[in-house]
Amino acid sequence: MRKQIVAGNWKMNKTYEEALSLVSEIDNMVKDEVNSQVTVIVAPPFPFLQSVGKLTQGNDLMHLAAQNMSEHESGAYTGEVSASMLKSVGVQYVIIGHSERRMYHHEDAQTLYKKLKAAIAQGITPIFCCGEPLEERDADRHFDYVGKQLHDSLSYLSNEEFDQVVVAYEPIWAIGTGRTASSQQAQEMHAYIREQLSRMFDAEAAFNTSILYGGSCNPGNARELFSQADVDGGLIGGASLKSRDFTDIIKSF
Ligand code: PEP
Repeated sequence: MRKQIVAGNWKMNKTYEEALSLVSEIDNMVKDEVNSQVTVIVAPPFPFLQSVGKLTQGNDLMHLAAQNMSEHESGAYTGEVSASMLKSVGVQYVIIGHSERRMYHHEDAQTLYKKLKAAIAQGITPIFCCGEPLEERDADRHFDYVGKQLHDSLSYLSNEEFDQVVVAYEPIWAIGTGRTASSQQAQEMHAYIREQLSRMFDAEAAFNTSILYGGSCNPGNARELFSQADVDGGLIGGASLKSRDFTDIIKSF
């Protein structure tokens, strides 16, 4: 069944104390105000994962994600964190292929494929990000660009592996810019993504895949975006750092 998901990507923000108070506020608001079956995910920085996870343990709606992980299983990879390490501290989801990782850390399609495999092997659900830069949209090549990103990293997965994957469409021109995609632009790209997935995997798996929108999503535009047939929730950056805004986005279904 397709899940409704709202995931907050905290990126490199918050100290330990700030992270704990943010997640406590979110946890309380979700308990008091959210009665739908939304899957709420928070993705704090690595050092805070375990403590944040402990704080949300009693709340069935709340889930824990990492923002990245290594494609390697273990060994001499200084500074890296493996899927099994994440699993051992209660991580259930991991963001793979965020545009900031692709851009600043030069993560290519093959590396992302390996990360997807490594996460799935540990039973961690990858949130696979795709999305075009502004020049590709302006040149009307956005569908081809995103189609290639999907093909180059996802198409080598088996149907069973793909069943574990969540996709996030994040047009780069909308990330952190305050310029969001219109609900029509989001819907047509999400429908295109679902169609591409149904060519790579079985149609039922593609139908059941949650496809999230990301890019300047906020309490003012979430309802309109989430009401689109192929938009199953959001991956939220800036607005996930404020408990009130994040909870209001969760309540937008
Ligand atoms: C993101 O970086 O995943 C994101 C969607 O950021 P923002 O909501 O700040 O645009």
